[in-house]
Amino acid sequence: MARYTGSSCKLCRREGTKLFLKGSRCNSEKCAFEKRPFIPGEHGNSRGFRKRMSDYGVHLREKQKVRRTYGVLEKQFRKYFKMAAKKSGVTGENLLQILETRLDNIVYRMGFAPSRKSARQIICHGHILVNQRKVDIPSFNVRAEDEILIKEKSRQMLLIQEAMEASTEVDSIDWFKVDKDKFKGQIISIPTREQIQLDTDESLIVEYYSK
Ligand code: SF4
Repeated sequence: MARYTGSSCKLCRREGTKLFLKGSRCNSEKCAFEKRPFIPGEHGNSRGFRKRMSDYGVHLREKQKVRRTYGVLEKQFRKYFKMAAKKSGVTGENLLQILETRLDNIVYRMGFAPSRKSARQIICHGHILVNQRKVDIPSFNVRAEDEILIKEKSRQMLLIQEAMEASTEVDSIDWFKVDKDKFKGQIISIPTREQIQLDTDESLIVEYYSK
């Protein structure tokens, strides 16, 4: 499985916004974006994030921001866009729904992992069951009514325990429910655009790929 192995914090600094890729560190004073809120590199400090950006640049940056938030490589992201465009409905919303229903995002959103990156690790190591079956593919897309469960033997893992203790945003999401005592969650419905907690203008991404 190909994946990005560089610095996560550099991605936030490049996109000019916090992408929350490192769990609790992102909300602490150690956050690199808080300390150095400018583009990485020799001339980063003198370059504004979106100053003098071309129209193409604005579209590109929005696409990169969303792609990096979900930790998806370009080839896969483009594939998701094609899938979204083929589906009925609004392409931008379809795209976000595909990304949001990836298993790694679900495990993260449900509070079983501190970040999507950690969620991928947990899934790849076989700690997650979907509808009572082991699923070790982070890109697996869940459906309405699917049940996500932490394997019994994995429930003592410090990474999972700490993430569950620290997770505070779970209650603000209404398209799934989580039972922390039973280490499980269930998808109620596929989220609408309004239910997806992501600050982006997805129409810019659609325009980027449609040019
Ligand atoms: Fe981004 Fe988190 Fe690193 Fe801050 S700590 S720069 S939010 S990945």
